[in-house]
Amino acid sequence: MKKYLGIDIGGTFTKTGILDENGAIISFAKGDTPKSGGIEAEIALIGEILEILDISTDDIESIGVGVPGPVDRSGMVHSPPNLKGWGEVDFAKFLSEFLEFPKYKIVVGNDANLAALAEYRFGNGARADPMVLITLGTGVGGAVIINGEPMMGKDGFAAELGHILIEPDGPRCGCGRRGCAEALISHKGIVRIAWDILKKDKGSVMWEMIGSNFDELTPLTVQQAADIGDPAANKVLKITTRHLAILLADLINIFNPERIVIGGGISRWGEALLGPARKEAKRQALKHLAKNVKIVRAKFYQRAGVIGAATAAMKI
Ligand SMILES: [Zn+2]
Repeated sequence: MKKYLGIDIGGTFTKTGILDENGAIISFAKGDTPKSGGIEAEIALIGEILEILDISTDDIESIGVGVPGPVDRSGMVHSPPNLKGWGEVDFAKFLSEFLEFPKYKIVVGNDANLAALAEYRFGNGARADPMVLITLGTGVGGAVIINGEPMMGKDGFAAELGHILIEPDGPRCGCGRRGCAEALISHKGIVRIAWDILKKDKGSVMWEMIGSNFDELTPLTVQQAADIGDPAANKVLKITTRHLAILLADLINIFNPERIVIGGGISRWGEALLGPARKEAKRQALKHLAKNVKIVRAKFYQRAGVIGAATAAMKI
């Protein structure tokens, strides 16, 4: 059976896995992404992790690498915001030299595009085409698969779905604009909304759950409180549902997708969020587009990046 190496470089962890051609993870290991030292430190870490995996590159068909930032069509990485000191870099070249592995057998891609490939090929995307992935986590990201490939745009940077506008007068987004999906349906966005509501509701069970400490407030607090019927938490859930529904309706109208897959930590709220958001999105979207779209939860979470990177490697 052929083996593929997937490397998922994240802002916090670097994860690696060996996959077989059916997408099954044979082995997996991870380490802390270096906070300094740039590419050289990252390459050294990958060397250490690969030793843990105990596999020779002679046994690997090809390698896929996901990075949390823009990657252009030629595979050049452009200054990932969470990887200090990277700048503009041909990462495949560095890795090829270090591992003494042919460069043409290494593919580097944007992590969201690769996660979408993983869902499309082996996950809940189920090879639906077009398929849209949105991830609701620290940020809001996404990718669009069309004809089996991530939609790249002219330069390779397309599908910044987290910056679709939801509320023109909403909170400031990291991109400088107000009211993007990322400013509202991300971890931070939901906490901000929850805090505003919580301040006006001293009777909410969430106060007890967080020990009156703002730093303890997370989307999970809101989810758990909503599950037991807390009115303040249910208000947050309702607002988040509305924001998500607008995003989904826009995605339906633009891409006419066969499936929309929703991943990231926030999607673990499950049907309490997805159920009403799905219904409202279909109500808002144009009828002929809304008719056949399926909106489902992702299959892969912590290992989506590794599976996606190896999936991209299988296509070389
Ligand atoms: Zn934005």
